[in-house]
Amino acid sequence: MAFQDKSLQCSDCGTTFTFSAEEQETFASRGYTNEPKRCPSCRQTKRADRQDGGYNRQRQDMFSATCAQCGKDTEVPFKPTEGRPVYCRDCYNKIRPARGR
Ligand SMILES: [Zn+2]
Ligand SMILES: [Zn+2]
Repeated sequence: MAFQDKSLQCSDCGTTFTFSAEEQETFASRGYTNEPKRCPSCRQTKRADRQDGGYNRQRQDMFSATCAQCGKDTEVPFKPTEGRPVYCRDCYNKIRPARGR
């Protein structure tokens, strides 16, 4: 099967871009049956967006609390429950040493 350069329109910005025979061959060899919907620059933008989204999802709300051990102000990634002691990072590490193998 011979591939020929194809003109496609980007679904994001409407730019016409070339889906070259070479790219089509690469696509086919990877088992992709769909043509690319976006021009190369929009594809890059999308990829960057996804990375930002991942970063934002990792951020957590921090709650201020007072360490039950040393009395220092600290922040914890969960809402402190009344009656349950909250420790600052230092004390937490002292109380619960990192589990080794
Ligand atoms: Zn585009
Ligand atoms: Zn402490």
